[in-house]
Parts: sequence; structure tokens; C-alpha cells
Amino acid sequence: AEAPLFAGLPGDISVSFEFFPPKSEKMEEQLWQAITQLAPLQPSFVSVTYGAGGSTRERTHATVARIVKDTALVPAAHLTCVAASKDEIAEVVDQYWDAGVRHIVALRGDPPPTDGGRFVPHPQGYASAAELVAGIKARHDIDISVAAYPETHPEAVSAQLDLDNLKRKLDAGANRAITQFFFSTDAYFRFLDKALAAGITAPVLPGIMPVTSFSAIRRMSGNTEIPGWLETMFDGLDERPGPRALVAAVAAADLCKRLYEGGVRDFHFYTLNRAEQAYAICQLLGLRPKEPCA
Ligand code: FAD
Repeated sequence: AEAPLFAGLPGDISVSFEFFPPKSEKMEEQLWQAITQLAPLQPSFVSVTYGAGGSTRERTHATVARIVKDTALVPAAHLTCVAASKDEIAEVVDQYWDAGVRHIVALRGDPPPTDGGRFVPHPQGYASAAELVAGIKARHDIDISVAAYPETHPEAVSAQLDLDNLKRKLDAGANRAITQFFFSTDAYFRFLDKALAAGITAPVLPGIMPVTSFSAIRRMSGNTEIPGWLETMFDGLDERPGPRALVAAVAAADLCKRLYEGGVRDFHFYTLNRAEQAYAICQLLGLRPKEPCA
């Protein structure tokens, strides 16, 4: 029988989109084009990342402030423990609070690439995301998301200890987790089962990464397994950005459909400041804009 791949999906999903703070005027324009195109899909929140080593502190803040000022979207500001004392972090959190920001994505962060090596806490700082969550919650009753790793964080001693750490972050007051990207639905669903068994009832949103550059995916993947079939899918597309983007959208849409069939209704997209793929995937899942495009 004929069974078109995306036929009949009702769009009963909610989505969130992640952006990074732009480094130049041109990138800023690209970011705002992306935000403007994705806004009609009424994301439950849009998040803005924080650069390694706190390198984007001002730019993250400026981007979040503009989202507050110019849109009706709910912004979520990423914040890390890297190279900052607890007082400095408190100041940043208060600034966000005063600007009307009510959602923070609390992360430990990684040392800047130039430092290489391991994360070393600031002498007056937080040593882990769980401590950061507790510190933020002690100041404001604010919505907090944290990171989760279906294939285990690379520094974790074991998958179980990593899961214990996720539980600690949620027990410290985080409201939900967002996962590192993955390409195996099995890995995600197994992780959800283990999380539930560990008493985690908060939502664990899958982080969806449409592959825009295979070398970048490799660099960022940490413990995420890159299946052979995926690599084959992108064979020979390194110098063909157009077809690569289309193939990436198909692969990510297929991943989302399988997640949907497994009961997932909340999706978080790593947009890399581009709207097309995330929008197309949402469209295939049946989601439609709630208001006309601006
Ligand atoms: P933590 O939860 O503190 O965990 C770090 C490691 O320490 C884990 O291996 C954990 O198991 C272990 N650990 C922690 N506490 C204990 C303990 N008490 N005992 C034993 N082990 C422990 N990075 C950025 O710089 N900027 C961003 O904007 C950013 N956004 C992200 C968004 C998402 C959705 C994700 C998944 C990651 C993001 N990252 C970002 C990357 C993140 O900062 C790194 O993955 C970092 O290495 C770990 O951060 P974490 O918050 O998961 O740390």
C-alpha cells in the first residue's frame, strides 16, 4: 500500500530554536532573517548560546535583549560557569532578570579552545552546572534548562554517574533538559527509559542538528556516534552546499518523524542561525505558522 513518508502528520508538536550570537553585522542580519522566518511557528522558546570561555557574554546579552525588545518570542539565555566568579554570574543573572528574561539554559561550559584540556573552575566560581542551577534558583524563580547526553558526556566516569548528574541538575531546580544532538533514535529512547527509571520526570527535549557541514559535526560530536549510513548519505557533498542542505533536511526530518512515532512532541532545533532546514522539518511534521510571515 502507498504510504507517503510524511503524510498525515498533524503538527501537534511544540518546537524551540537555538541560535548563536552573531560576530558581524552580516551575521546579525542572517540571524534576524532566521528569527523572523521561524517566529510564526510560535516556538515555546528561542535560546541564544554563550561562547566558550564566556567569550560572547556581551553579544549573547545584546541578542537576547533585542529578542525581548523586537519580538513576542520567549528568549532563553545560555550561561556557563567558565572563567567567572559566583558574583559575576549573579550580576549577569540579575541583568537578565531586570531585562525581563525568564529562562536560562545553565551549563558548565568548556574551556576556550586556546586553553585546551580540562575544565578548571574559577576559584570563586561554580564547579558544575548543578551548582550553577542552585545558584541561579537562589536568586530568582526563573525557568531553567540544562544539558543532557543520551550517549554520555565525554568526561563522565560512567553513563550512570552522568545520569545521576542530570538528576542532580533537575533536583537543584532545573525544569527540563535539552539533549546533545544524536543520530540514533534508539540511543535517545534508551536514555529516556533510564532517566525515567532514575526518577527523572522532567521533559528531556531531543536536540535536533541538521547536518550542514560534516567536518563540523565530527568536531562537535563528542560521544555522539556518527553512523556509517549517515556518512554514506553525505558522501561527495563536501563541496556541494545546496544538495548537502537538502539531504541534511531529509535526514533530520526522518529522525524527527521516528521520534514523533515514539511519542515525542517537543523538539529543539540547533538552527546554526539558518531558518530553512528547521522550518522545512517543522512543515513536514505538520506544523503550520500561526500568523502570516512578517
Ligand atoms: P555538567 O552537568 O556540570 O557536567 C559536566 C561533566 O561533569 C559530566 O561529565 C558530568 O557527568 C560530570 N559531573 C558533574 N558533576 C559531577 C559530580 N558531582 N560527580 C561526578 N561527575 C560529575 N557550551 C557553551 O560553552 N555554551 C553554550 O551555550 C552551550 N550550550 C549547550 C546547549 C546544550 C543543549 C548542550 C547539550 C550543550 C551545550 N554546551 C554549551 C556544551 C556544554 O557546556 C559542554 O558539554 C560541557 O562540557 C558540559 O556542560 P554541562 O552543563 O553538561 O556540565
